[in-house]
Amino acid sequence: MNELYEPQYIEALLRRHGFTFSKSLGQNFLVEASVVERTAEHVDARCGVLEIGPGHGALTRPLAARAGKVVAVEADARLLPVLGETLAGCENVSVRLGDATKLDLRALCEAEFAGLVPCLCANLPYNVTTPVLENAARAGCFRRIVVMVQKEAAQRLLTRPGDERWGVVPALLAARYTGRILFTVGRSSFLPPPHVDSAVVAFERLAEPVVGEAEFPAYERVVRAAFAQRRKTLSNALSAAGISPDILGEVGIDPRLRGERLLPEDFLKIARRL
Ligand code: SAM
Repeated sequence: MNELYEPQYIEALLRRHGFTFSKSLGQNFLVEASVVERTAEHVDARCGVLEIGPGHGALTRPLAARAGKVVAVEADARLLPVLGETLAGCENVSVRLGDATKLDLRALCEAEFAGLVPCLCANLPYNVTTPVLENAARAGCFRRIVVMVQKEAAQRLLTRPGDERWGVVPALLAARYTGRILFTVGRSSFLPPPHVDSAVVAFERLAEPVVGEAEFPAYERVVRAAFAQRRKTLSNALSAAGISPDILGEVGIDPRLRGERLLPEDFLKIARRL
């Protein structure tokens, strides 16, 4: 169904369904088949894929052709009849109306992807990148995450300590995943074209996660406290969040440092004393 990537076909399809693009829902649909293929090729028949924001189904169809099963969650009810048409014949896809930021990801993976390798794959709407990736890091249920995000956001997600962009989302992801940028995507690959370029990033779950299941809530609490007021020293930032700064001395971390200098292992040392 290569016409799925032809702007004229998409415009006629959407017009027929009375659909107009919503900026607030980050609706920029892919019109470049090669970008879609290079994203979808990271899943195979063993995978159970959660797709967030299927739009008119540009990525959903190639995912369905490769994966064992696809669950696609779309927030815009106006797209359901469009997807009914473009996904006709895709027996292994179920489309659901919903807000992806509110999903219980672990429950979804258990209920939908038993016996499959759970993967998250999406061209993410820009405004939900942070909550979706925080939820995914927290849930830890996806073996692989392949998402398209704004290019600057992709670079930020992969920063390491010492970089001023090191913050909550990269620190939560680094607790369980290792990531890399797969390729960048120019704005002309979308309808309508956005004002920024994009990049596709892939995260693989670590065989030995830095932070274990039971420790994750305390780890997240420390990370959030450390970055809540970035200009403050660690000592003041932890105090402001009700965490005793004495812990820093106990675990051998300089209290005058700022959160952006700390490794995931450092946050974990503090978390283990809570
Ligand atoms: N996957 C399609 C593509 O690549 O052409 C569309 C991607 S478009 C960037 C983002 C999609 O996410 C839109 O269909 C939009 O309606 C949907 N969306 C926006 N916010 C959402 C949310 N909170 N939960 C689920 N879907 C959402």
